[in-house]
Amino acid sequence: MSLNKIIFSTLLLLSCALHAQPQQFDQLVQQIESGQRYFFSIADYKAALAELEAALPPDDTERQHRLDRLRCQLAYAGDPAAGIAYSDVKIQQAKARNDPAALADYYTCRYYLFSQSGDSNRAEHSAQKAHDAAKNSENPLSIAISLALLGDIASYRGNYADAMEHYVTAYQLQRGLGYKPYLSDLVLSIAATYRRMGLHQDALNYIEQAEQEFTAPEEQFRHALIMHEKAYSLAELGRYEQALELFQQSMQVYQQIKEPLWRSYTKVNLVWIHNLLQQYPKALTLAAEAKTELASLKAPDLSTLTSYKGLLAMYHGETLSALNRTQAALASFDEAQHHLSAENNPRYMLMLYAARAPAEAAAGNYQQAHALLARYIALNKEQQQLAKEQQSNILRFQFDSARQQERHNQLAAEKKLVEQHVSTLQLAQRWQYAALSLIVLLLLILFSFALSLKRRNRRLHRLAMTDELTNIANRRRIMMQAEQQRVKAIDTTEPLSFLILDLDHFKQVNDRFGHDVGDTVLQQMCMTVSAMLRQQDHFGRTGGEEFLIVLPDTAAEQALAIAERLRQAIAAIRFADSPQPLKITCSIGVTQYQPDETLNISLARADDALYQAKADGRNKVVADPATTLV
Ligand code: GH3
Ligand code: MG
Ligand code: MG
Repeated sequence: MSLNKIIFSTLLLLSCALHAQPQQFDQLVQQIESGQRYFFSIADYKAALAELEAALPPDDTERQHRLDRLRCQLAYAGDPAAGIAYSDVKIQQAKARNDPAALADYYTCRYYLFSQSGDSNRAEHSAQKAHDAAKNSENPLSIAISLALLGDIASYRGNYADAMEHYVTAYQLQRGLGYKPYLSDLVLSIAATYRRMGLHQDALNYIEQAEQEFTAPEEQFRHALIMHEKAYSLAELGRYEQALELFQQSMQVYQQIKEPLWRSYTKVNLVWIHNLLQQYPKALTLAAEAKTELASLKAPDLSTLTSYKGLLAMYHGETLSALNRTQAALASFDEAQHHLSAENNPRYMLMLYAARAPAEAAAGNYQQAHALLARYIALNKEQQQLAKEQQSNILRFQFDSARQQERHNQLAAEKKLVEQHVSTLQLAQRWQYAALSLIVLLLLILFSFALSLKRRNRRLHRLAMTDELTNIANRRRIMMQAEQQRVKAIDTTEPLSFLILDLDHFKQVNDRFGHDVGDTVLQQMCMTVSAMLRQQDHFGRTGGEEFLIVLPDTAAEQALAIAERLRQAIAAIRFADSPQPLKITCSIGVTQYQPDETLNISLARADDALYQAKADGRNKVVADPATTLV
């Protein structure tokens, strides 16, 4: 690191401390928890912890807890004993405040710490505790992480079916959460489990699916890990050249991103592949390089480092054995035995027995060679038996998953069908409502239209039948009513009388007071007459100041009385509006309808009576001579 860089990062940390922002802290936590942040070395862990501490807002208990949880994972990568002591205290605190999510984190942390210190029993116990706490917390990320731990343990123990079940469940949870780095880890774990069971094609299928997903430049490391895993399966399938190429490619990536640990691990694998390709000089060179590198490297995960040291010694022994350097080979196998026995991984043991036996034979140690082969056969038989059981378990699990998936698909299809049906019904119903509303609207429009038409017609009818000035029936209407009553009188044989009323000297009223006063007189006179007539009587204007009154169910004598009352009433009207005293009189001709005569004949007789009244000096009521007075 140059001085400039140091100053710059110090300033950055200082500015972080000065402007500790909750968002910044949360963002960092999110990066670490989602697996987006890579940790290649102990220094990487320390750097992340320093950033978190700088970003922690003061007096923020909640975030202080988050930091403590991450501290377990970040601060003790190189010192498991101190980490275990730290987690002891923190677990008691988390229990006291009933914080299952924190407990799950601390137990997960302990799993890694115990694994590092080679205490696999307590590591497994911690993983189980982490899973219990995660389930209590109901946090899907915690559950997925703890399941992946259980998967690793089961896979390590050779319980591949259990491992697969844990991994697949964790994978489904992570798929839901969308944390890609965890997904790639799980895909690799699943592929490795298939590979360990000898199901190399299944492993390859899984890997190739993952390969497509991790192609972005920032996912280089993930992609390299995937290539690495793919190379294993190809090598197991006898496709050494392809495996070689992939190992070389992934090694280049590790070189580019300055990841020394994985680069050295890949070198160990290259020794293995070169042996298989019988390229021994190359294998020798790489083994020497790898040995120096592994000796100088500090790995956060000590057990993996030890395994690789053992594998390297074993592969190197094979090279030496192939080159007939038997004694050196046996020494290397001893070293391999030393490293690998700590792990007690049966796959490694089988490889070691198989590799060592020919070297022992070449050295003349036939008994040793025989013993190794016998152990190989026994262990292999055991492993084959286990693998068979696991395979049938896994088939059952796969079958169960497939059945579950099928059931799930079926339910989804049914749900979709029901939804479709419901939406079709809803659509149909909506159309029905729409059509119904439209019909109702149309009916309303039609109804209101009909109503207004009827009103208009009635108005027109009334206008056509009403006298504009006096608002009583006009000539047309009163003549119709007179005719209707005539027909009715014939039917019922009830008496019917007609009055013809004419104002006296009305011309003079107009002349003396003006036409407007004449109009008012006409209006007032009509109101007076209307008020005095009975319900069944009809009153209409037949001409300028001439009126017809139809009196149903009325004989001449009664008609004369009515006419007389009308005459007196008109004569009594006081026309208040007129400037000078104004009196109006009228003459009335009365007739009773004679059976079988026409209306005209009847009215002509009334007219004659009116003429007589005028002749007699006006302001008189005269009945026509034909009318028989009782
Ligand atoms: P008589 O006693 O003989 O019936 O005399 P009269 O003047 O009433 O008769 P005439 O038939 O000579 O005159 C009728 C007058 O009625 C003529 C006209 O000025 C008047 N008249 C008719 N219609 C109206 C009307 O609508 N308004 C007014 N103000 N006057 C009208
Ligand atoms: Mg007249
Ligand atoms: Mg007149």
